[in-house]
Amino acid sequence: MDLFESPGASVGPDGPVCSAKGCRAAAVWVLAWNNPKLHTPERRKTWLACDEHREHLSSFLGVRGFLKDVVTLAEWERDTSPADG
Ligand SMILES: [Zn+2]
Repeated sequence: MDLFESPGASVGPDGPVCSAKGCRAAAVWVLAWNNPKLHTPERRKTWLACDEHREHLSSFLGVRGFLKDVVTLAEWERDTSPADG
């Protein structure tokens, strides 16, 4: 399963949706992760998750030691700059 290639922070017409494959539910959670083999330590990749998939996606990252943070989408948006980058 090549899960790292496909999902990502995707914003649909109804706003951010869950990154789980095939799931179109509205995202509630932001999973911040980092793959030390690919990313510098301060880099954060993000996956979005609905309530249903938060545990699934976070354990996927957690067992690999990639997971850094899980926060609500509202919290993430409040803490990060709205500027595009
Ligand atoms: Zn989902």
